[in-house]
Amino acid sequence: MRETDRALVQAATAVAKLRCRSENHTVAAAVRSADGRVFSGVNVYHFTGGPCAEVVAIGAAATQGVTELETIVAVGDRGRGVIPPCGRCRQVLRDYFPDLRVIVGPPDALRVVPVGELLPDTYVWADHQLDAPVDPAPAQRTGD
Ligand SMILES: [Zn+2]
Repeated sequence: MRETDRALVQAATAVAKLRCRSENHTVAAAVRSADGRVFSGVNVYHFTGGPCAEVVAIGAAATQGVTELETIVAVGDRGRGVIPPCGRCRQVLRDYFPDLRVIVGPPDALRVVPVGELLPDTYVWADHQLDAPVDPAPAQRTGD
């Protein structure tokens, strides 16, 4: 864990404490961009499948034109601490940001893992876009 990773956990924790005060918003996420900016979001619970906090934080970054993200963390309300991304978020994070770092683990043993490690042997959406233009020099992904 870098100092910036600890700061990201603190940012998400602060948002969870300040903004997660109803059953509609129970998790906060913070994401750090490649240029060091931090964006946050909270989940939007709804029985039809409202978005998780991680997805909202990605949207907040995109709203500001930031699409290169480096590290993400989610924190639960009422002192639940860091919580790992759900399966759907793991897939979204892996497809959007193959090199993303994810902070997971219990409070006394937080660690950073590559998103690919959270979803081994997964379907990779980009690999199946057969009608997409062919990249003459596709970038190597971590873990491929
Ligand atoms: Zn999720």
